[in-house]
Amino acid sequence: MARMINQERCIQCGACLPACPNQGIEEVDGRYRIDSNLCTECFGFYADSNCVAVCPADAVEFAPNGVTEEDELASLAAQLRPDAFPRD
Ligand code: SF4
Ligand code: SF4
Repeated sequence: MARMINQERCIQCGACLPACPNQGIEEVDGRYRIDSNLCTECFGFYADSNCVAVCPADAVEFAPNGVTEEDELASLAAQLRPDAFPRD
């Protein structure tokens, strides 16, 4: 399941921005958001969601949309990062 940032909890520290292997987090006018189409739950890079690990405010939650199954996450990861997940 993709992740999302709870705007009420986020303290706009920016720690999550460089933590995403898919560059799926952006900052616009001081607000941070996750593009659910780019979130693979860090499949293949980290055992757990890296944005969750680095967030000091416990502001990253599961999103109600986005891919959910392991094989879907793997497929999206390969699509987004062919450099890291080359196909045969
Ligand atoms: S869970 Fe991983 S892939 Fe998804 S937004 Fe957070 S750092 Fe990026
Ligand atoms: S690390 Fe957490 S508190 Fe900091 S900008 Fe990201 S979501 Fe907000």
